[in-house]
Amino acid sequence: PEGYRSEGSLTLGDIFIAVKTTKRFHQSRMELLLDTWISQANKQTYIFTDEEDDALKRRMGGRVIFTNCSAEHSHLALSCKMAAEFDAFLASGLRWGRAAVGGPPRERGTLLTANFLCLPVTPSWFCHLDDDNYLNPGALLKLLSSYAETRDVYLGKPSLNRPIWASETLPNNQTKSVRFWFATGGAGFCISRKLARKMVPWASGRNFLSTSELIRLPDDCTVGYIIECKVGGQLIPNALFHSHLENLQLIPSSQLMQQVTLSYGVFENKLNVIELSGPFSPQEDPSRFRSLHCHLYPNTSWCLQAVGW
Ligand code: UDP
Ligand code: MN
Repeated sequence: PEGYRSEGSLTLGDIFIAVKTTKRFHQSRMELLLDTWISQANKQTYIFTDEEDDALKRRMGGRVIFTNCSAEHSHLALSCKMAAEFDAFLASGLRWGRAAVGGPPRERGTLLTANFLCLPVTPSWFCHLDDDNYLNPGALLKLLSSYAETRDVYLGKPSLNRPIWASETLPNNQTKSVRFWFATGGAGFCISRKLARKMVPWASGRNFLSTSELIRLPDDCTVGYIIECKVGGQLIPNALFHSHLENLQLIPSSQLMQQVTLSYGVFENKLNVIELSGPFSPQEDPSRFRSLHCHLYPNTSWCLQAVGW
């Protein structure tokens, strides 16, 4: 297929992983992620949040980006964070200004300024996740290495089984109907740098917010709109991304280890989680993320303890 490459030499260092969170989830959600999958992709993962948190910063080796966006579940606040993620990705890998040229040596991956990251390589992939996602870094690498990063790639789980129609406000205040696919943000999605660069006029800095205003839809819709309606790209649907808007019990236990992302949440007053027996009980591990992590990385110290070693 288009964009396929047979030889995969991709490493985690080629991926920029952005996790969106908010102050009230630093403990309840982020701790779980830090204990589990982030421990396997620590150097590539950047947390975008709305409140300074020294404990979080320490655990992330500084890779926490304070966005100045408001701590609300509004379109505006969430689009503000998406814009910050996008900008940090675009700036990542650049050696910037004095700090890089004449300043003291810096540990790689540390923040030079609010937005410029000093990295050993320029990541060729941007992946966005919510703070209730489990990411399997190995499965992500395997998936991304089957696409040429030199192409325009937009990968994720379609939010609907059909394109969405939206009404776009035109400069003369008239409106026009637009139609596009988008990847649901709650399942995570990835974009190649090649494509991200083309999105700049609509997605970088303040542009993301004004673009999002044009269609008055959430941040993940706005990403799809920019890619499909402005840049001429296309969502490549992938069934390995999962959000808690689907019934997670339906994923066969034997296939959980191959999924790229998983999630947990409440659906119709019931806990919607993956089906996995042990090593932790549902009381000890309501999200099932700890148990999944032990299946993927059985040598983790707290996994060995859990099985009585
Ligand atoms: N979120 C945020 N600010 C808020 C509420 C939520 O940044 O005020 C983030 C949250 O941390 C998560 C994502 O937005 O990464 C989705 O939030 P949540 O899972 O609570 O809601 P959902 O949209 O999945 O129902
Ligand atoms: Mn959620």
